[in-house]
Parts: sequence; C-alpha cells; structure tokens
Amino acid sequence: MRIADYIRDIQDFPKEGVGFKDITPLLNDHAAMMEATKQLLALVGDKKVDRVVGMESRGYFFATLLAEKLGAGFVPVRKPGKLPFDTISQEYSLEYGTDILEMHVDAIKPGEKVLIHDDVLATGGTAEAVCKLVERLGGEIVQVNFLMELSFLHGRDKLAQYEVKSLMSY
Ligand code: 5GP
Repeated sequence: MRIADYIRDIQDFPKEGVGFKDITPLLNDHAAMMEATKQLLALVGDKKVDRVVGMESRGYFFATLLAEKLGAGFVPVRKPGKLPFDTISQEYSLEYGTDILEMHVDAIKPGEKVLIHDDVLATGGTAEAVCKLVERLGGEIVQVNFLMELSFLHGRDKLAQYEVKSLMSY
C-alpha cells in the first residue's frame, strides 16, 4: 500500500495558485490510516516519548493515534483564544504578516520527552513556533515528524537543530 495514493492534490486551495495536499482520503480509509500510523511509528523507533504535540487542526489526527500507540499523552496546540486554561503564546511569520499559536502552561513538564507531529511541513514557520513553545516549557524534543514535506519550501532549514522526519517528500 502506498500512502501517497491516499493524498489528493487540490489546485487553487485555499487560494489561487496554491496546490493543496488533502489528507482526507487517507483518514477516510481505515487500512491506509493504520498503515500511515505504523510508518510514522517506525520513524520514531524506540525513542521514549512522554507527550505528543499536535498542531491545530490536521496535526491532531495522527498525533492522537501516535500518542495512543506510544503510551504517551497528547498536547493540542491551538490558534489564539481557543484554549480555556492559562496559555503561553508564540508569534511566527507567515508569507504576509504574523500569526500566533498557543499551548496550555501545564501541558508539558520540564524534562519530558516530546514528539511533535503535523500533517505537512511547508515553510516550517508553524513547526518552529511549536518547538519554541515546547522548549519554553522545558520539554525535550526527540523528533518532529510529518506525513509529508514540501521540500521546495525548505522548511527543514528552520528546524535544523532537531531530528526531522517525514513519510513523503514532494
Ligand atoms: P508552514 O508553517 O510549514 O508553512 O505550514 C504548515 C502548516 O500549514 C501545517 O499546519 C499544515 O497543516 C498547513 N499546510 C500547508 N500547506 C498544506 C497542504 O498543502 N496541505 C495540508 N493538508 N496542509 C498544509
């Protein structure tokens, strides 16, 4: 089974000129979803993981599945104003302007081993911001993994100090 066969290209979404990688066919198919989970777990190997951090919202699907398989807790990263308890915030740059991501202050304890997961690595701004949130809480990042990376956007350059893995590269 090829995971790539379950990724659909949508032209001009969310705006004209953008080619969007749609992961919903992968989520729709149980066997494909389980195979992708198995392959992501293989990327992690035998590393100890206390928490899996997932990015709103497409990062949540596989981050939660990975947390279950790894016997780890799940930590949601959200857009501003969505988390109910006390938060820390991290600003990051977009193509035009800036955005903010938040995490609960008690989501990670100092010294905990953290796996960060998102569906897609594009420019790397999102993942870099999440790495900063994790480290500000004292977490130790053991890997940052993705279903796929859009390598022509060089997102890895922003994550050079971390172990970065992805199942597919475009
Ligand atoms: P970055 O911050 O690396 O530029 O963008 C990554 C974020 O944007 C991820 O959270 C990811 O979900 C989303 N993203 C960017 N491009 C795509 C895409 O083609 N498909 C999907 N599913 N998500 C994308």
